[in-house]
Amino acid sequence: MSNTSPQKTDILIVGAGIAGLLAAADLQASGFQPLVVDKGRGVGGRLASRRIGSATFDHGAQFITARTPRLAALLNEWQGLGLVTEWYRGTSAEHIYWRGVPSMTAIPKHLAKPLNVRLEMKMTALQQADSHWLAIFENGETIAANAVLLTAPVPQSLAMLDAGGVALEASKREQLEAVDYEPCLAVMAVLNAPSKIPEPGFIRFDERPIAWLADNHAKGISAVSAVTIHATPAYSSSHWDDDRQEIGRRLLEVAAPWLGAEPAEFQVHAWRYARPKVERDQPCLVLNPSPPLLIAGDAFGGPRVEGAALSGWAAAKALKELQR
Ligand SMILES: Cc1cc2nc3c(=O)[nH]c(=O)nc-3n(C[C@H](O)[C@H](O)[C@H](O)COP(=O)(O)OP(=O)(O)OC[C@H]3O[C@@H](n4cnc5c(N)ncnc54)[C@H](O)[C@@H]3O)c2cc1C
Repeated sequence: MSNTSPQKTDILIVGAGIAGLLAAADLQASGFQPLVVDKGRGVGGRLASRRIGSATFDHGAQFITARTPRLAALLNEWQGLGLVTEWYRGTSAEHIYWRGVPSMTAIPKHLAKPLNVRLEMKMTALQQADSHWLAIFENGETIAANAVLLTAPVPQSLAMLDAGGVALEASKREQLEAVDYEPCLAVMAVLNAPSKIPEPGFIRFDERPIAWLADNHAKGISAVSAVTIHATPAYSSSHWDDDRQEIGRRLLEVAAPWLGAEPAEFQVHAWRYARPKVERDQPCLVLNPSPPLLIAGDAFGGPRVEGAALSGWAAAKALKELQR
C-alpha cells in the first residue's frame, strides 16, 4: 500500500537483532523515542528459535558468553527474570555458556516489549532529504527520521544506501565493502528417540562438513529429541546453491553415528550472513554526523552476540553525543 505522507520519527533503527534492540533500549532509557523496523516476522535476527511440532530448536546463536562486565551484569539480570539460564560451564568455572529460556528468542522478545517495533518492514533504500533521512520500504511506506542507525548485515545496509544514492566518504565505503561474512547451512531434525550426543548436549567438529551438532532436548529447550546441525563455513559456501532437502539428507547421514535414531522430520535454514570474518577496532561507524547516520552490529563489535550487544550500546552512545 503506498503512503504519500511519511511517518515521522526521531531515531529510526533498522534491524531488531540484539544490536538494534539494545541500542533502542538504551536510547529509550535516555528519553529518546526510537522506532525499530525489521523485515522479519519476528524479532531477534540471528538469535533465532523455531518449532517443528512439539520440537524446539535454536538454529542461530547457540549460547551467549560474556567477557565484559556490562553484558555479564545484563545476563545476571536476565537470569533473575527467568530469561536465561546456564547451559554449561567451560574449563574455567567462571566461563558460563548461557541459553535462553524457554529458547533464544525469549531474549529479543523481552527486549522488544517496551519498544516501538514494526515488523515485516523491509527497507529497500535510504535517501538524504536536507536535514533528515527518508527510509523507503518494500511495502511502499516511507519513514522520515532525524537520525538513522543501520544494524542489518553490512552488505544489506550498503545496498540500501546505494539504492538511495547516499554519498559515503571513500575511506568509509572501503571499510564497509571489506566486511565479508561466513555462511552457515543449518539443519533442524526431529528424532523419534534420544540422540547419542553426550552431555551437556553438543559436539564441535574440526573437519568438514559439520562444525556443530547440538541436542536441543539435552540443552533443555525441547520437549522431544531434536538436533541442530551447523555445517562448516567451507561446506556451506561450496554447497550454497545445492538443493536444500538434499543438503539436509547428506548432513543427517554424516551425523548418523551421533543421532542413534532415524530423523522423523527435518528443515534446513540458510544463514547467508552467519558470522563476519573480520574483527574491527571500532565498535560502530558514524557514516554521517548531521543528520546522523550510523552503522553497527557484530561486524563492528565482534562476531558474537556479545560483539553485537557492545556495538549496539556504542552506537546508542555515539547517537546521544551527536544529538546533543
Ligand atoms: C548459525 C549461527 C550460530 C551462531 N552461534 C553463536 C553462538 O553460539 N554464540 C554467539 O555469541 N554468537 C553466535 N552467532 C552469532 C550471533 O548470532 C550474531 O553475532 C548476533 O546475533 C548478531 O546480531 P546483530 O544484531 O548484529 O545482527 P542480526 O541478528 O543479523 O540482526 C539484523 C536484523 O536486521 C534485519 N534486516 C536485514 N535487512 C533488513 C532490511 N532491509 N530492512 C529491515 N530489516 C532488515 C534482519 O531481519 C535482522 O533481524 C551465531 C550466528 C549464526 C548464524
